[in-house]
Amino acid sequence: MSGKYEAVIGLEVHAQMLTDTKIFCGCSTKFGSEPNSQTCPVCIGMPGVLPVLNGKAVEFAIKTGIAMNCKISSYSRFARKNYFYPDLPKGYQISQYELPICEHGHIEIMVDGDVRRIGITRIHMEEDAGKNIHEESGPYSFVDLNRAGVPLMEIVSEPDIRSPKEAAEYMKKLRTILKDLDVCDGNMEQGSLRCDANVSVRHVGQKEFGTRAELKNINSFRFVEKAIEYEIKRQIKVLEDGGKVIQETRLWDSAAGVTISMRSKEEAHDYRYFPEPDLVPITVEQKWIDEIKASQPEFSDERRERFVSEYGLPQYNADQLAIDRSTSVLFEEAVKAGGTPKDVANLIIGELTRLLNEDSKTFDECPLRPKQLADMLRLIENGTISGKIAKTVFEEMYKTGKDADTVVKEKGLVQISDEGAIEKAVDEALAKNRNEVERYKAGDEKLMGFFVGQVMKATKGKANPQMVNELLKKKLG
Ligand code: ADP
Ligand code: MG
Ligand code: ZN
Repeated sequence: MSGKYEAVIGLEVHAQMLTDTKIFCGCSTKFGSEPNSQTCPVCIGMPGVLPVLNGKAVEFAIKTGIAMNCKISSYSRFARKNYFYPDLPKGYQISQYELPICEHGHIEIMVDGDVRRIGITRIHMEEDAGKNIHEESGPYSFVDLNRAGVPLMEIVSEPDIRSPKEAAEYMKKLRTILKDLDVCDGNMEQGSLRCDANVSVRHVGQKEFGTRAELKNINSFRFVEKAIEYEIKRQIKVLEDGGKVIQETRLWDSAAGVTISMRSKEEAHDYRYFPEPDLVPITVEQKWIDEIKASQPEFSDERRERFVSEYGLPQYNADQLAIDRSTSVLFEEAVKAGGTPKDVANLIIGELTRLLNEDSKTFDECPLRPKQLADMLRLIENGTISGKIAKTVFEEMYKTGKDADTVVKEKGLVQISDEGAIEKAVDEALAKNRNEVERYKAGDEKLMGFFVGQVMKATKGKANPQMVNELLKKKLG
């Protein structure tokens, strides 16, 4: 960004709550079922039906509010947000408006070594809409109402965020908290965590905010950063060219890497909010808040500190593990199963992360159990396999779900630690490379690596590297 400008960013995040049933009826919230198989007269908006509030949704919202340092409202209520769209059969969405369940919170994020506090304006509950499915060939569109009535939390931040990177860190921290609480699965690709980004720019030192654009359709962490980055550049260019930024809603087009105007302020909806007459206001007693407070789980910040003090991990590794609860559980369970903390951490952060990324999978979908990790590390420690072979073994374990022992046996990957066998390979390597032996003896000690490589090649990587080194030194020395 040009030095004269600074960005101001506020995020509106929608999180699908992990309740078993919908927010105002008993229908299942399970993802991926046959279209319209999880519907009833309430969530398809039949006339004359009445919504009944799901207590779990309220509990989840309060949990989240407490975790984000919010004030929990003792009195809040639902409102009708009126608009027409085919995926909204009632013609209005039940949401919260002037009296949300949580307000005035904040969370802390770490950006480039600095702690930044981002204000949470409000957290409110609402129902999700259905999904329109547009058939590619053919004149029809379809409506699937399985998602209609799934409970959402909308978490609105203050315009406290100052860079695309901060926005991404904020999203990551939100997801971590939601997953720690078990109130949302945090899956942006599947849409259970969605984000609209409000972006404006102003001159450095200027007090008032600039005019903002609201970016929709951001469905991955990478795109949060990319979309905002693009938008900041676009707005600065508009200003530099002597123009004015207009208040509008823009769509992020991930394929083209640009934001596109969708509608301006003049075309904005007037939602005609009014209090929902079919639901009683929500009153929350302090006793309930206290109970929920007392049962909050360990959060990532505490976990990170504990990983450093309890397992002696470097801060950086502790960060990488603690940010995700599934990763943390895998780490601690693998240590419990006998893995050395440092080795388990390296295996998870290194190879396992790489394999999951290649597979576009998260740690929630990890095909290996903690004990399998610990057992594989034990085979390295006791010399059964070399560190190098371990990579092959682990890849095979990941692919097949088999235990390390089984893979080693099936593929014949046991490390060769038999002195006679290694000596034979060393002798052969030296005999085949007389020139290099001469050069080594003449002082070119760098060739040691070459000899090791030759022996490893001949033994298909199975020779115990330490023994290979020792034997080579003895024979060449
Ligand atoms: P709306 O409901 O119309 O989107 P809100 O006032 O509720 O409007 O604001 C929504 C989001 O926009 C909040 O996250 C807020 O922090 C952010 N926001 C408000 N003003 C600005 C601005 N000038 N620049 C960037 N973000 C802003
Ligand atoms: Mg908005
Ligand atoms: Zn229903």
